[in-house]
Amino acid sequence: MSQTFRVLPSIDKLLHHFQEQPEAAAYPRSLLADVLRETLEHLREQIRTGREIDPTPAGILAAAVKRLDQMASPGLRKVINATGTILHTNLGRAPLSRQARTRVEEVMDGYSTLEYNAAAGKRGSRYDHVAQRLCRLTGAEDALVVNNNAAAVLLVLSAIVPGREVIVSRGQLVEIGGSFRIPAVLAQSGAKLVEVGTTNKTRLSDYHKAITPDTGAILKVHTSNFRIIGFVEQPEDEELSRLARAHDFPLIEDAGSGTLLPLKLGDWQEPSLRQRLAAGMDIVTASGDKLLGGGQAGIILGQKRWLAPMKSHPLLRALRVDKLTLAALEGTLLDYEMGNPLEQVPVLSMLHQFPQQLEAKAHRLAALFDDLRQYGWHVQVLALTSQVGGGSFPGVEIAGWGVQVRWTQSAQKLETRLRLGSVPVIVRIEDDAVIFDVRCLDEPDLVTLAAICGKIVKGEQV
Ligand SMILES: *Cc1c(COP(=O)(O)O)cnc(C)c1O
Repeated sequence: MSQTFRVLPSIDKLLHHFQEQPEAAAYPRSLLADVLRETLEHLREQIRTGREIDPTPAGILAAAVKRLDQMASPGLRKVINATGTILHTNLGRAPLSRQARTRVEEVMDGYSTLEYNAAAGKRGSRYDHVAQRLCRLTGAEDALVVNNNAAAVLLVLSAIVPGREVIVSRGQLVEIGGSFRIPAVLAQSGAKLVEVGTTNKTRLSDYHKAITPDTGAILKVHTSNFRIIGFVEQPEDEELSRLARAHDFPLIEDAGSGTLLPLKLGDWQEPSLRQRLAAGMDIVTASGDKLLGGGQAGIILGQKRWLAPMKSHPLLRALRVDKLTLAALEGTLLDYEMGNPLEQVPVLSMLHQFPQQLEAKAHRLAALFDDLRQYGWHVQVLALTSQVGGGSFPGVEIAGWGVQVRWTQSAQKLETRLRLGSVPVIVRIEDDAVIFDVRCLDEPDLVTLAAICGKIVKGEQV
């Protein structure tokens, strides 16, 4: 073993050759030295564990170039979403509309009116750009945008009810994901949680009985990622609203994946933000990057009297949105105000594809796979179902189409090869076959996907 260690050439000698490799020429010497050191360390480890290595300078340089390639490829990068889940939280939720991307690009490219009022020639507010548009689209009296919906809920509670009691139904004490649990967020804001009702049933009288002189709000939370079925009951929004108004505290709703258009899928109705406000909510919060189809943002809607303390709250600065988020949101809102959101906002267009369109898309992908049949690639177009994802339409299965592939290798192996490429392709496995759900794929995706699969069957690098 020590023989083999000694065979490895010195860093200095290798560095000289490394700098002359065309792939490495553009990088600083110190980076190349680091890469070589790591490569040699890795090779020594291989030797220690008894693996075969190529100890020649050419072999080592090839390994170093490969390592450099890996370092140069960004960690955050495009993937092809063949899962059929439109709002895939792990895959970045909503893809942006053309208008949103254009707005982001313009703002990214140079200086902007972020906090400048060009008409008045003086300082402006970053919150003004989208507030009026949100008010027009939802009928809200005022609007405020923060970093995400979790931030929105935290700001609302911190500004409105610190030290006071907040009444929540036991059926709505939800965990959204990670550490976002309603009781924990309430505690963090300084509010006191008062639980009412039971997991499946909460009545108006439960809320009524819980009201004390210390009550600061009633909070309603969208049960976005689960469903209680059977013997269930919750009071109507209008009833809760009358109760809150009679006591002059606000009725707050965390609407989760807020939507600007009322949506219906299967047996699930998702009211729009406008409908929620009209039903009597005083304050509504929602995400910007779920069903609304914009970038990550938290939207707060409500009456001026309730939003005023949020605007002057110190947390606002910590939770504030950046210019790219605002640009993406404004672009998306413009699609709703001025355009045809069902066509222009990708989340909505993917959601509303007709079965015939999806079936045609699946046949198109199968045709692109034709050449791969000679490599033992078995292709079948099939009807399937998927979920919307991202904490929306819990439990609703939507009908779609996809392509099922079996190969000489196991589905697990194929899934791995697809995932480890320079553009990862994310798929589902069912019945030991790989399934490409076509719902979230556009024509360029189909072509790229077929090219990637072509390389995989030929054993080429993808
Ligand atoms: C998704 C969700 C959140 C968190 O929203 P983010 O924008 O991801 O911070 C909060 N509450 C509900 C009910 C949700 O569905």
